[in-house]
Amino acid sequence: MITVMKFGGTSVGSAEAIQRVANIIINTEGDKVVVASAMSGITNFLVGVVDNPTKDVDAIVEQFANKHLMAAEQMFDGEIMAEFRKEFDIRLEKFKEALQENPGDPYYKDLITSQGERFSTLMLAFYLKKMGHEAVALTAETAGICAVGLPLSGSADLIATENGMSMKVAPVLDKGIIPVITGFYGIKDGVPLTFGRGGSDYSAAVVANALNADMLEIWTDVDGFMTSDPRFIKSAIKIDEMTFGEAAELAYFGAKVLHPRTIEPVRVKHIPLKVRNSFKPQEPGTLIHNIKKKGKSLLKSVATKNDLAIITVSSAELAYRPEMMAAIIGKIAESNIIIYSISTSLSTIAMVIDNADVSTVIKKLNELSGKNIERIDVNNNVSLVCCVGDDLLSKCGVSGDIFTAVKEAGANVEMISEGASDVCLNFIVPMDKVMDVVGALHDKYIG
Ligand code: ADP
Ligand code: ASP
Ligand code: MG
Repeated sequence: MITVMKFGGTSVGSAEAIQRVANIIINTEGDKVVVASAMSGITNFLVGVVDNPTKDVDAIVEQFANKHLMAAEQMFDGEIMAEFRKEFDIRLEKFKEALQENPGDPYYKDLITSQGERFSTLMLAFYLKKMGHEAVALTAETAGICAVGLPLSGSADLIATENGMSMKVAPVLDKGIIPVITGFYGIKDGVPLTFGRGGSDYSAAVVANALNADMLEIWTDVDGFMTSDPRFIKSAIKIDEMTFGEAAELAYFGAKVLHPRTIEPVRVKHIPLKVRNSFKPQEPGTLIHNIKKKGKSLLKSVATKNDLAIITVSSAELAYRPEMMAAIIGKIAESNIIIYSISTSLSTIAMVIDNADVSTVIKKLNELSGKNIERIDVNNNVSLVCCVGDDLLSKCGVSGDIFTAVKEAGANVEMISEGASDVCLNFIVPMDKVMDVVGALHDKYIG
């Protein structure tokens, strides 16, 4: 039985947290493979280093080292500390060299922001050793996690990773050693490529896929996958079980508890996933698998995605010119921009994209100027609300119930996407109303 256990930033954010997760690991039966994020705050610090460059590399390295050493000093002393410092200093030297690479390189930000995971995993592996368990800190490089794609938004190459890990990690497991692997990035052409913010969940799913694990556990700082974001909806409660499809839709449309790409690598191999609280290991968490259990309420969970825009392109009789429709979407695809929702009429197509992508999309669409685009309208600052529930598509009156609650929250629905998935109904509202809408839906149909 192989369990892949992923620990997020807050779960490895201090000496106490690392000690707590080490206990969780050793109390887990069978073979364990650990994937860890950087200590909380570290990746944000590294993003700041790249976004606000200074010449003072030594000051950056010192600040970075101190945060880790403060925790390490609470955990290690004597011989084990000396051994830890030797490996820590090698990694620190590599971090310093990385900072001096060319900031103009397209993968420079991936190289720098992926550094934190190398240090959290080292501390965790050493703490496991201190507790008398054989453990080794591996990086994506030494574990064989291969990536493809563009800077800051890589994907794993699942086949190459499976090959790499069967050579590099399986033999470690066979010897009874616990591998502690860096999350967040893979290796493309010899250099780090990150999987997007929060990407360690995805790394862990990729590792579970590559090793044909029996279970993936995502250990975080809440009791499980909840009925809504507990930071905003105080009455949110933990969901006991959900399907891969439900979890995937919610994660894609904003439920931050899982990186949006976490589900697919485990779904294809039927590996169940649990979301659990590393601060309350006695809690069972949420089980995500392919067995559907009917819930009692209309909705199971509501997620939101903010900072979106609706971009509406008008072009006469667009519906009769499918090649024009394809050209519009093709132009957007050329910039690798995600379209979250689409709605069409005779002469318009409306698409939901990230606010940050609006200027790029307009520039790309202007390249179609010879093809009679009549107008481009932009509605900035909107949010998508994703409602997930059992068989939403086949239940009569669901939309009526949902939009009654939206009306009661005083929000105007700007666009609707229903029917694409049988578990979710999505719609767009102004961003300043989104929390009222979610609160109303939660009170009425979940809470
Ligand atoms: P980690 O560092 O462990 O990866 P994250 O901060 O990325 O943790 O994700 C956990 C956080 O996700 C929770 O603290 C919670 O605030 C937020 N969250 C948003 N939506 C949900 C949801 N539906 N269920 C649980 N947590 C959610
Ligand atoms: N450390 C990375 C981040 O903060 C990856 C992760 O936490 O999953 O985005
Ligand atoms: Mg996360």
